[in-house]
Amino acid sequence: MLNVPSQAFPAAGSQQRVAPAGQSRNKVVLKPGHSLLDWIRLTKSGQDLTGLRGRLIEVTEDELKKHNTKKDCWTCIRGMVYNLSAYMDFHPGGEEELMRAAGIDSTDLFDEVHRWVNYESMLKECLVGRMAVKPSPALQGLSAPPSLRPEPLSAPLPAKDHRPRYDWFQTDGTVNIVVYTKRKIPSAGCAVVDLQDDNLRVEMLLGRMSYLLYWRLSSRVQDHVDVQTAHSVGKVQLCLRKSVKEKWTQLGQSLEHHDTFIQCKDRGLFYRECVLLSKTDVTHNTQLLRLQLPPGSRMQVPVGRHVYLKTSVQGTDVVKPYTAVDQMLIPPSQSSAEVGSDIHLMIKVYPDGVLTPHIANLPIGASLSVGGPEGSLTLRVLRDVTHLYMLAAGTGFTPMARLIRLALQEFTVIRKMKLMFFNRQERDILWQSQLDELCTKEERFEVQHVLSEPADSWTGRRGRIDACMLQNFLERPENSKCLVCVCGPAGFTESAVQLVRQLDFSEEELHVFQA
Ligand code: NAP
Repeated sequence: MLNVPSQAFPAAGSQQRVAPAGQSRNKVVLKPGHSLLDWIRLTKSGQDLTGLRGRLIEVTEDELKKHNTKKDCWTCIRGMVYNLSAYMDFHPGGEEELMRAAGIDSTDLFDEVHRWVNYESMLKECLVGRMAVKPSPALQGLSAPPSLRPEPLSAPLPAKDHRPRYDWFQTDGTVNIVVYTKRKIPSAGCAVVDLQDDNLRVEMLLGRMSYLLYWRLSSRVQDHVDVQTAHSVGKVQLCLRKSVKEKWTQLGQSLEHHDTFIQCKDRGLFYRECVLLSKTDVTHNTQLLRLQLPPGSRMQVPVGRHVYLKTSVQGTDVVKPYTAVDQMLIPPSQSSAEVGSDIHLMIKVYPDGVLTPHIANLPIGASLSVGGPEGSLTLRVLRDVTHLYMLAAGTGFTPMARLIRLALQEFTVIRKMKLMFFNRQERDILWQSQLDELCTKEERFEVQHVLSEPADSWTGRRGRIDACMLQNFLERPENSKCLVCVCGPAGFTESAVQLVRQLDFSEEELHVFQA
């Protein structure tokens, strides 16, 4: 059982707070009674939040522009228009941030800040209608569906021959798909495969780019997919077993966005239903969840990337990002879990949170919707790094946990790896004994703990992050190449980044984990 403290937790200012009276969340202090749960309640109250008494209308661009004040604020996301006036005081990023969307098509703005938020569900009672189609001179008379925006191509596509391609062949009993990525790829983690009924979705995560293959298969296959990666030549091969041994004349019918190569951030999130296999206490308020992917899915979340957990709270979808971790910091000699079929998430339970108490109460065997993976870390940043520094606060440790393991196992060039780990009390330190063990085992690894609310008996460092702490910690020996990684609550991250910059570390030498 978790021993969840009921008072003063999470810390004031923690992003995880659901705005209890007068406490800050993200950048703004939400008024009492304006938490996410309060918003969900308001949307269920039957109150008219659009001013149109349930009527849906077609909105012209000129009409949209007129609704640009706090009391009358409309915005358009992916062709649908919402009245945000009632949501103004509930927006965790604050009124000012929301007003950037007033009277305009804010799709790109929304995607930039939090495209994973399920706005359709959160704002369904605010729906005004859809944008009227502007007749294009070339398409006079044709009415294109306004909600179907092409996927944004925010960066120029790489030259044609850098585009991955695929091929397929079959035997009596199997169908084999080969993806040629045309680049070196990691030995695992770049192929995310989901076979759901007859639909096969294969997403290749290639740095910041995503290559998608998506078919409704011609015929039935068994629900286990075998994935082989030849990383040095950049080839991934999938083997599907036919349910009936017959010749296929084609692989299948292409589905939405099949054979597209775009930036990961522009790709829509895909969810699959996972089963909660186990929950293990890590500390008094943090659990390690083991989730099992459905039999047709194969996904190894790349190091430093996160997934999204989605659940329905009073009929509204609530989505939150969580960084995947390994089962433990130090790999066991033999692992029983099949590679790519399980995900481990370390989740701190916030008593006044919306999602985490719900997750903490889920019984083993319950299902959870998992989307992603996503994230900006590419292993290229580690190339030639000799000194890896990590500044982590609270659960901001989670991306570091896999980074440490990966760096120790695969990056022999790294001479020194140092973690400065900030927590409130000693009991909050995640995987403390594993960190200590690693320090004794691995000469290259060092950890320094800093507590902001230590007991009198604590002999280690105390306080919050400051310049003095970092000055000695972030050494820069001759001929070294340094990388400083930062993750934690927003305020901590801001301070850490500022301090690191003041110590003359360049942007290339800094990586900030942000979900
Ligand atoms: P916490 O327990 O509230 O805080 C951990 C430590 O950070 C405490 O010592 C705290 O000091 C310090 N701290 C908090 N705010 C600070 C500030 N403004 N300046 C300096 N120090 C500060 O942390 P938590 O509840 O585990 O939260 C962890 C955060 O990390 C969450 O917000 C989560 O979203 C984020 N996270 C992000 C990612 C990602 O982006 N990939 C992954 C995992 C976690 P005080 O006691 O003095 O406040």
